[in-house]
Amino acid sequence: MKINGLIKKALWENIPCCCIKGDITHSYPLTKCDSCKFTEAWNSVPQEDFTVNDDKHKDGKLIKKQTKTVKEITLVRGSFEDVIGWNY
Ligand SMILES: [Zn+2]
Repeated sequence: MKINGLIKKALWENIPCCCIKGDITHSYPLTKCDSCKFTEAWNSVPQEDFTVNDDKHKDGKLIKKQTKTVKEITLVRGSFEDVIGWNY
């Protein structure tokens, strides 16, 4: 998997986690901790090639069922260089 838009150290990685360990009401996801939120977003980025549905349609009708392998994605970054999405 090729990932476009990688950054050595993104801004969000400087944000400390403010969760209280072992206290579920004061930790992510109940508490909006930016550090944990950005970490989770980063961890959701696929690291391996994956296949997607790529069926061919013509005039609204399915003419060929097929899949394709995605080998390259591009990250979409937010204001803290956090990963807000990715596309291929
Ligand atoms: Zn946290």
